[in-house]
Parts: sequence; structure tokens; C-alpha cells
Amino acid sequence: MQVPFVDLKAQYQSIKKEIDSTIQTIIEQATFIGGEPVKLFERQFSEWTGIKHIISCANGTDAIEIALQVLGIGKSDEVLVPAISWISTSEAVSNVGAKPIFIDIDKDFYTLNPELIKEKITPHTKAIIPVHLYGQMADMPQIVEIAKKYQLKVIEDCAQAHGANLQGKQAGSWGDIATFSFYPGKNLGAYGDAGAIATNDDALAEKARRICNHGQLSKHDHQIEGRNSRLDTLQAAILSAKLPYLTTWNDQRLNHAIYYNELLKNSAIHTPAIRPNSNHVFHLYVIRTKQRNELMQFLKKEGIQTAIHYPTALPFLPCYAHYKHRASEFPIASQYQHEILSLPMYAELTKDMQNYVVEKVMSYEL
Ligand SMILES: *Cc1c(COP(=O)(O)O)cnc(C)c1O
Repeated sequence: MQVPFVDLKAQYQSIKKEIDSTIQTIIEQATFIGGEPVKLFERQFSEWTGIKHIISCANGTDAIEIALQVLGIGKSDEVLVPAISWISTSEAVSNVGAKPIFIDIDKDFYTLNPELIKEKITPHTKAIIPVHLYGQMADMPQIVEIAKKYQLKVIEDCAQAHGANLQGKQAGSWGDIATFSFYPGKNLGAYGDAGAIATNDDALAEKARRICNHGQLSKHDHQIEGRNSRLDTLQAAILSAKLPYLTTWNDQRLNHAIYYNELLKNSAIHTPAIRPNSNHVFHLYVIRTKQRNELMQFLKKEGIQTAIHYPTALPFLPCYAHYKHRASEFPIASQYQHEILSLPMYAELTKDMQNYVVEKVMSYEL
């Protein structure tokens, strides 16, 4: 049996008719930038998340950069980020001229450990970017409380967490501003690059909207300089066509994760824990084992595709070598980077496939 890591072809086949006719319509209308489909998707995603303003943009990395700019963060500022994330989280901080300050992750939930925030705060600290990693909410009640106390802005990186919630409160609605990615493999993915900024604050929303489109709200009204970071009309229409399925797809991911957890219960494999009172949307299903590399090779030979998110924790990437971070500063991240392995996870995964994956994982263990 072959089990791919994700299967975007299977998803397309399940909604082919709608997608094809959507694309056809947009091409016939020949509106490729902006227009009603972009506004429509923003309204629909705002309704779906319950966040007042959705400002679409070109990708999830731009969304973080723009969120930082909107909050006035730049040169000589410091921004707290988790030690494990995709590079976008820290890259965006550097790209606005600020310095990323890494914080180790929580040993159980893999998100930024709030206990470690205080010791990293300096007079330069302006903001914190919790990442809802793998589809799991960060510890937002604690993070928001600390941020309030030290007057830090909170930017939620929701790239992996469309629809996750904690205590019934949606990912993206806890902080000052939030960012989403609609990269094709994300829980809600476009057919190319796409992203969005989300906020309940009217003034922040207006500024974000200006920055995304050369500083203008209406044509030739350049109150400030911005940039070109817009969502293509085609991508907006595709996202609108897919959005009605997102809740079902997220539920399916969660069911698959629960099934994996159940099957692996009596093995030596560390399975993912779900934070109490939260809804985990399992963008990724990440296990841990000391024999990670060997297991990965073995599964590959058995036709099972896996991946690592991420093989090197952010502080240890070559691009941050000048900060001279040591493993001892980030004991959890530095250990886990060698142990984590993402198993196949997507809505269309079948029970047969999961049984096969677990059978092979267990057979390796023996
Ligand atoms: C995917 C991702 C991003 C960036 O999104 P792009 O749309 O690829 O730019 C940012 N943060 C995290 C945690 C991500 O997983």
C-alpha cells in the first residue's frame, strides 16, 4: 500500500465540479486582482472565524510582516517567538528590522511555554507571536495575561490552526491581531500562495488594508507607503468554494488523530496530547520516538510518506548562527527536533491506510 503524506489530488477530486466551474467563471469575468470574489471570501472567512475584519493578502508570511508593521514594530524592537515553528514566524520579525527572541516550547503541547516569557522580557520587547502549532492552540489565557501586564502586543500565528479554539474562543480572536496562511497544504488551502490578517480592531484593520495595497484604500489615495500583497481573485474564489467543507475536514482530521492515538496507545511511541477545553484541528499529527530517522527510512521503504516539522529548531538554523544560541537554552526544542515525526494526516485518509501506517510503525518497534 502507498500512503502519501498529504493528498491534494484526492481533495480536488471530491469537489472537482465546484472548483472547475468556479475557475471557469472567474476566467470568463476576467477580473484577476480584487473585485467581488475577494470581498466575498473576506466576509465569509470573517463569519466563519467570528473575527470582525479579515484582510486578505498574498501569503501567510506577508501577513505576519504586515501585522508587525501595523503595530508599529521595527528597528531596535524585540519580538518573542517560539523555538519551534516554520521560519516565517521569526523571518517576519527580522524582515521588519526587529529581533526575534526565541522561547522554548511546552513539553506536552509543543507550543510556546508561557512560564519562560518573563525572563526574556527587556525594555525593547514589544510583542509576542504565539503559534498554534500543528493545529493546537497555544496557552492563550496565560500569554494574554502576561502580555497585558508587560504591555506587549499579541500576534497569533494561525497558519496551522484554522478553526482551532480554546475555551470556545477561536484561534485568531485572543490577541491584538492574527495571521492566516492558505498555502495549498494548510487546513484551508488555495491553489497557490494566499494569506490573511485578522483583527477585531477597526483602526488596525484599516492600516493593514492600506499596507496590503500600496497604502491606498481607494485608488490613488496614498496616505502612507505600503506594498503589493494582495490575494488573487482566482484564489479567493477557490477559497470560497472550499470554505463550506472546512469544518467537516477539520472534524475528519481530529477523528483520524483520535484513531491513531488509540491504535498507538500501548506502544513506546509518544502520541500528541490535546490541550483540555480546546479543539485541536490537527494540521499535523506529530509523534515522537528516539529512533526517528530510522523509523522514517523504514516507513518510506514500506510506501509510507512522513515528514519532519521541523528538523532544526529555529534558534539553531544557520541563518541565526550569529545569535550563538546553545542547546541548553532550549532543552525541549533541542531534544524534540531529533524525535518528532509527522505521520500522514489529511481529511481523505482512510482507516485502511491508518491501520497500515500503525501496523508498520509497530512492526518497526518490535
Ligand atoms: C505556513 C506557515 C506560515 C507561512 O505561510 P505562507 O503562506 O507559506 O507564507 C507561517 N507560520 C506558520 C506556523 C506556518 O506553518
